Amino acid sequence: MIKSLGNNKWIMDYHIHTTLSDGKGNHKDYIKTAQKRKIDEIGFSDHLCLKKVSWAMELSHISSMIETINHLKENSKAVIKLGIEMDYFLGYEDNIKEIIDSIPFDYVIGSVHFINDWTVDHPDNISEYDKWDIDELYKVYFNLVQMAAKSKLFDIIGHPDVIKKFGFKPKRDISILLEETAEVFKNSGICVEINTSGLTKPCKEIYPGKKLIKMCFDKGVPVILGSDAHRPKDIGQYFDKALKLLKDVGYTEIVQFTKRKRKFIRI
Ligand SMILES: [Zn+2]
Ligand SMILES: [Zn+2]
Repeated sequence: MIKSLGNNKWIMDYHIHTTLSDGKGNHKDYIKTAQKRKIDEIGFSDHLCLKKVSWAMELSHISSMIETINHLKENSKAVIKLGIEMDYFLGYEDNIKEIIDSIPFDYVIGSVHFINDWTVDHPDNISEYDKWDIDELYKVYFNLVQMAAKSKLFDIIGHPDVIKKFGFKPKRDISILLEETAEVFKNSGICVEINTSGLTKPCKEIYPGKKLIKMCFDKGVPVILGSDAHRPKDIGQYFDKALKLLKDVGYTEIVQFTKRKRKFIRI
């Protein structure tokens, strides 16, 4: 059962997948559940990927996505935002930029799901982890996340430590790697997504973990909230825990995006 979020001033969920990509609900289903849960602002962020994959939306569906969301913006009581979760690929920055610039997004989440052709967060590909030295894998993954931030293509970096999803943990202390990553976030001016879906996965932790969130706070990196909902019942999942964690490390504000401009909102 999700606790009421009614005590907070303004709550948004910026990470939601509809049937346009791999989600199991349509926009209206999500809005209905969000309103019951006192979520004031709903950002849709279907997958968009340069590679043709089953879990991302078709490029040909972009115009109907824009139309649907514009219609909902005008006809819903809740505040609705046009977002996207876009895959980062090293070396394809110009192609990614061209797509992003052609769509009037409120915000763009940049996520690293791939190392070469391997989708690291897909349950069908878990056996791939056995082929790696996990310490080396973390280094490679965080390096790609850093490159995604440095590319300045995105407003938000999605689930920055999703490499921990299936519970494969590094043997060595990765504090320096995390510190370096937080520093890159700061210097790139990117926001970090506090993604609660990790709590439902084998790692049983919010993405990113508390240590990286604290480093981000210490460096002044702003944050947003996302549930990574793939079903309407996931919307706002564990936001009570995320907000407590944010407040514990010192955050008093989260970011709201409109047409890719930021505004800080007190939590
Ligand atoms: Zn993702
Ligand atoms: Zn997602």
